[in-house]
Amino acid sequence: MNLSQRDKKHNWHPYTQHKTVADFPAIVKGKEALLWDENGKEYIDAIASWWVNPYGHSNKVIANAIYEQLTTLEHVLFGGFTHNKAVELSEKLMKILPSNQQKIFYSDNGSTAVEVAIKVALQYNYNKGIKKTKIIAFEDAFHGDTFGAMAASGISFFTEAFNGSLLEVVRIPIPTLGNEEEIIKELEKLVQTNQFAAFIFEPLVLGAAGMIMYQPEILDKLISICKQNNVFTIADEVMTGFGKTGKTFATDYLKNKPDMMCLSKALTGGTIPMALTTFTQEIFDGFYDDDVNKALFHGHTFTANPTGCAAALASISLLQTNEMQDNIQRVHQSHLQFESKIKNHTKVKTTRVLGVIFALEVKAENQESYYGTMRNKLYNYFIENGVILRPVGNIVYILPPYIITKKQLEKVYQTIENALEIV
Ligand SMILES: *Cc1c(COP(=O)(O)O)cnc(C)c1O
Repeated sequence: MNLSQRDKKHNWHPYTQHKTVADFPAIVKGKEALLWDENGKEYIDAIASWWVNPYGHSNKVIANAIYEQLTTLEHVLFGGFTHNKAVELSEKLMKILPSNQQKIFYSDNGSTAVEVAIKVALQYNYNKGIKKTKIIAFEDAFHGDTFGAMAASGISFFTEAFNGSLLEVVRIPIPTLGNEEEIIKELEKLVQTNQFAAFIFEPLVLGAAGMIMYQPEILDKLISICKQNNVFTIADEVMTGFGKTGKTFATDYLKNKPDMMCLSKALTGGTIPMALTTFTQEIFDGFYDDDVNKALFHGHTFTANPTGCAAALASISLLQTNEMQDNIQRVHQSHLQFESKIKNHTKVKTTRVLGVIFALEVKAENQESYYGTMRNKLYNYFIENGVILRPVGNIVYILPPYIITKKQLEKVYQTIENALEIV
């Protein structure tokens, strides 16, 4: 039996109906934007392995930092202790985060980063004796799969089974050109009820919804409404963080800065699972008290893992090199060129680009579901042709490692163009 076959015996994969899927390719090696399976077939990783890997697979700089840390201090508990890598990483993050972000809480993945933000928003109010127990979020948002993060995510068959066990969340539409006034009014009405602890959003791009994009001006307005009404704003930058939008953070496009930020995915360059939630001083001070009960009683075993911190330090240094910044601009310009070429194609409904993110909606007869026929046809075509792209319904998006070569990008574009002929 090969790896693909052995895999099926014990492994339960994410978002997978095992009864109806084919064997999964078994990847045995990665280098820069390329992956190889056990049969030697080559793939271009055009989605940076779920958006975690901007600097390429098996990156030597990050690998060396990890090795050095593993052989110096692989892990120490963060409860009652600290260590040099957590101190250095927080200091480094302070230099690139919006200046109102002053405190950092470490965890393991995007969902836990969101859980922490939501719990902090609720407990901040609880500590002050204020009853604010609900959250505002965007329709079709994705904030993760744990209970709090799932509650804040859009309603779909992903979460249907858990309705009734979830935190109370009220959803407002995603701002598109034309509905801004309506959303502003809706948010104003909600915040004035004094029931909401926070508004959580994916800034400028809703990733899992299919790279749906909206303008910084409207988000600035929504944040300012929340600020005026003492509702915390949580920017979930788990996907957008560390250069994806062309700036370090999507919130760098904003005038009004959020009260909390959630980061993960590209934080360690796709090596060690790690996440963090950042806060203003004001929020931290809401827990700072002689009364022990006002502390944040939340923690994860591997919180601020030194090896993860070392990987993140190396990753951020890579992001800050001129070479990487040039790569981001190069990929962006390349996307714009492809966009102008493909946008008038008869099968293309719309296109959009922000930073290294490109998305294209294929014209569909009916509303295409997340795992619909067209989606599967496209996905299979891409994999057959050695390009890893995971369409969301009829939306095909590219979010490549920044170091993807010009030639590899051309192949990704060409494969998408060819795929339009088969749907
Ligand atoms: C992926 C993602 C999450 C969840 O992160 P996990 O590490 O998968 O738990 C949360 N928010 C956004 C915006 C994401 O893209």
